[in-house]
Amino acid sequence: MPNSISWWIACTNIFRLNGDSMIRYLDLKAQYLSIQSEIDEAIRAVLADSSFVRGPHVQTFETNFATYCGAAHAIAVANGTDALEIALKSLNLTRGAEVIVPAYTFIACAEAVIANGLVPVFCDVDPQTFCMTSESVKAVLSNKTAALMPVHLYGQPCDMDDLLTLARQHQLKVIEDCSQAHGARYKGQRVGVFGDVATFSFYPGKNLGAYGDAGMILTASQEVADYCRRHADHGRQSKYTHEFVGRNSRMDGLQGAILNVKLKHLDAWTARRQQVAALYDAGLCHVKQVEIPWIGKECESVYHLYVIRARERDRLQEHLKSRGIETGVHYPLSLNQQPALTAWRQSVSLPVSDSSGTSVLSLPMGEHLTEADVECVIAAVREFYS
Ligand SMILES: *Cc1c(COP(=O)(O)O)cnc(C)c1O
Repeated sequence: MPNSISWWIACTNIFRLNGDSMIRYLDLKAQYLSIQSEIDEAIRAVLADSSFVRGPHVQTFETNFATYCGAAHAIAVANGTDALEIALKSLNLTRGAEVIVPAYTFIACAEAVIANGLVPVFCDVDPQTFCMTSESVKAVLSNKTAALMPVHLYGQPCDMDDLLTLARQHQLKVIEDCSQAHGARYKGQRVGVFGDVATFSFYPGKNLGAYGDAGMILTASQEVADYCRRHADHGRQSKYTHEFVGRNSRMDGLQGAILNVKLKHLDAWTARRQQVAALYDAGLCHVKQVEIPWIGKECESVYHLYVIRARERDRLQEHLKSRGIETGVHYPLSLNQQPALTAWRQSVSLPVSDSSGTSVLSLPMGEHLTEADVECVIAAVREFYS
């Protein structure tokens, strides 16, 4: 059967089923509708007790999220970028010290380093896992290096044993950015407990997303926890006594209440993402112009994104768009190529990070996708290359 006909068969079915001609890359509205009564009730409870900033709903979420991740302390903050910035500050690194950041990630990682008066040094990422490795770190290590910031990109954990061994050898602090990897496991343990401190974003599009901005810091250290909590609340000791100059980065009560509801559904949503990924894997593994995601040993990805490398990526993306399939590119530029970061551009070459922008494509991913949706995407990719 010609590929265009099999595409037609795969896709006309879903058009009739859901009455929506698009296969959405992300569908927050569908998710809300699926848990509407629980969410509405949680919002009403916040309105009823006026706990708008921090308060009992946020405290409950801190406890629940710490338990979920297996962490000793959780500190809710206003967003994932603040979480990184405050977590870094809590490590009390010498001004001007270097922090090694993967060159292929979201810009917030570099911003948090710079905001602390520290120097971001970009390292390359592994071509298969898109994570930093001890080898890529060693290529840019110096006697000014003070910390590493592994990012569990696209939902896949970095090889933490590899990185922690190196960190121990060189007495480096480790700050894990788990913004794309809520609940992902490395050697059976959820991410967020491996470094000195770890951070999460609950931006709406993340696997666990608020209805606005929100973030979290996890740590095993009482000292780091106390510092972060105070820093995010004006360095406050008591209502009008301030121990040091901090800032305002508190989580809204509404976000805490919403996240408490959504956390209960996270594992089921993750399982669905993993099923979708398995369908994509099976449908695309024999398409020779496409590389499917490669998952590291003893890693369980939560597939924040399902990112393929594709030949003629731009034309494939256009083709999928013409078939009503939304896709994304994460990321078109490495941090090393960002106009905002020219002052920190690496002198050594970072071939994987600097070339991935032209080949990666993020396919629709989320619990909103039906099997028919996924089959339709697969058929459209195959049709393009046929
Ligand atoms: C989303 C994200 C952040 C920033 O989180 P915000 O809540 O948007 O500030 C940081 N790092 C990574 C890897 C992210 O994906």
